[in-house]
Amino acid sequence: AGRPASADWNGVGATADGHRVKILGNVGSVADARAAAAAGAEGVGLFRTEFCYLDAPAEPSVAEQRAAYTAVLTPFAGKPVVVRTLDAGADKPLAFLVPEPEPNPALGVRGLRVAFERPDVLDRQLEAIAAAAADSGAEVSVMAPMVATPQEADWFTRRARAAGIARAGVMIEVPAAALAAGEILEVADFVSVGTNDLAQYTFAADRQLGAVASLNDPWQPALLRLIQLIGDAARAAGKPAGVCGEAAADPRLARVLVGLGMTSLSMNPAAIQTVGASLATATTSDCEEEARRALAAG
Ligand code: PEP
Ligand code: MG
Repeated sequence: AGRPASADWNGVGATADGHRVKILGNVGSVADARAAAAAGAEGVGLFRTEFCYLDAPAEPSVAEQRAAYTAVLTPFAGKPVVVRTLDAGADKPLAFLVPEPEPNPALGVRGLRVAFERPDVLDRQLEAIAAAAADSGAEVSVMAPMVATPQEADWFTRRARAAGIARAGVMIEVPAAALAAGEILEVADFVSVGTNDLAQYTFAADRQLGAVASLNDPWQPALLRLIQLIGDAARAAGKPAGVCGEAAADPRLARVLVGLGMTSLSMNPAAIQTVGASLATATTSDCEEEARRALAAG
């Protein structure tokens, strides 16, 4: 585990001129974590914890969560892992966190908004994550899903630090958060762009609806402009900004994302070798040129 399977990529994410870009895995289970480690992932950029509980009838206890998270984190002992707190609601309903019936669940109480109503559930999860970090030896940070404002980011990062988790960031999946990335980075240690939801909300196009799939295309220049804003804000703040949506798994788009200022790319394990190899053959200025062309595309 941890050894790249292909001779094309040496397992250290970087452009041809040596600019470091961490290549990370998206995981939701022990099998995913093992696959990511075997593919040579430098760490985990997105652990979707709600995937552990899609069938759970009741809230798992702290001890159960601690054991489940430790099993996923263990293949990454000594490496960075970003654990996302429960992203319940909309396309990922959890039986133990059912909201009042809503006309538009994607625009309703989902992601971090659930935690505002049930901070006790968040606090128990943070307690379990902190314990699993110690048990596994992984370098754990946490991040919140579906953050809309700097105030929400501040609320979450304070709660994470109170639970003893030193590094706390937030996902940027809502256009308002992209526009406020600078203010968010005043309180968060890092941001991670969820391009699946950021595209859905930017184009007002349901990510689960095939009829509007062409709008949910991460090559759309309007989406890339939002990512550029985030990259600029991160550079100004001197803090990391990654992408953990499906866009990061496209070897050509990966170069564009680096050209827009992204400092890490997190993807499904099957894409790691190809994306690592794609970056290794492009210089930083190639990435910037490809980003300029993509931003200007029709
Ligand atoms: C995203 O929205 O891009 C993301 C990474 O989160 P999820 O796909 O789990 O909503
Ligand atoms: Mg999302």
